[in-house]
Amino acid sequence: MKVAPGIYQLKVPIPDNPLGNLNCYLVEGKEGWLMVDTGWFTPETFDFLKNGLKDMGITLTDIATIVVTHVHPDHFGLAGRIKQVSPDTKLLTHQFEADLIETRYIKFSDLRHKVGTMLRRYGVPSLELSSLDSSSMPALEFVRVTFPDRTLYGGEIIPTGRYNLEVIWTPGHSIGHICLYEPRNQLLFSGDHILPHITTNVSYHVQSGDNPLGDYLYSLHKLENLPAEKILPAHEDIFADIRGRITELTEHHNNREAEIRQAILEGHRSAYEISSQITWNVPDFNWNNLPPLHKRIAVMETIAHLECMRWEGKVQRIIEDEFIMFKPC
Ligand SMILES: [Zn+2]
Repeated sequence: MKVAPGIYQLKVPIPDNPLGNLNCYLVEGKEGWLMVDTGWFTPETFDFLKNGLKDMGITLTDIATIVVTHVHPDHFGLAGRIKQVSPDTKLLTHQFEADLIETRYIKFSDLRHKVGTMLRRYGVPSLELSSLDSSSMPALEFVRVTFPDRTLYGGEIIPTGRYNLEVIWTPGHSIGHICLYEPRNQLLFSGDHILPHITTNVSYHVQSGDNPLGDYLYSLHKLENLPAEKILPAHEDIFADIRGRITELTEHHNNREAEIRQAILEGHRSAYEISSQITWNVPDFNWNNLPPLHKRIAVMETIAHLECMRWEGKVQRIIEDEFIMFKPC
């Protein structure tokens, strides 16, 4: 689908996943095309991508550059497979994302151990620990690993010969998440930073830095006055009102914070206990029946809130033995 002159969107399926699709964007250039995000790897999604390009009259070797907004499997998974076929294609991502590749996708047992320790300190009961700390492992098979040819920090201009794309560093969903801005048509490739309906997941993680939600809200605020006519997100559909969406997202986080504050006032102390008191947006929600991956996400999101509230002086954080507890100020 053409979304602007010389800019196309391909909806790459994400099999068996509620997100449905990853929006891969293709930007025409003077010396080859630029791809934004790839989709995750399965033999079928790879064929889908190749066929989509074929319909546009191009092949993988016409892709001069791939920019991944962050290295989650649905954005980065096919990059290694594409580079097998087209070794001259250059992969670009933020330096902080590049730093995650080895620990997430190659030598991951150390990371799993650290996540387990972290979850335990925030109150996850020992019986549930191994199902929670291993619940993101199945995603590994959807990644064909490769490393970037060049890393970014934010502020760079990537010229395609037709467009100049500005790199905007937007940490929060992932520590090195980037958006790309095209000023002539006022387009923003927003990755997972701003989606039109889904609320972006912001989780506390051993690799997220100590205040990912604070980073996320700052990154949202940063884009509030950007002259952007069309937002091209990595999932769901293209939309226009960036300011309105930023307001909605900020309100959502304020409401979640109010629920957390209430749970603390009622005497819940660990992040695990507090997250069990939140009404999560899951059909027929029941905390005890939540699948491990959902529970893990819920706990990590709650920790992100609690740590953000802590830095804002809204809750007190205390360490008892090795456990982290939260109290009203
Ligand atoms: Zn995504």
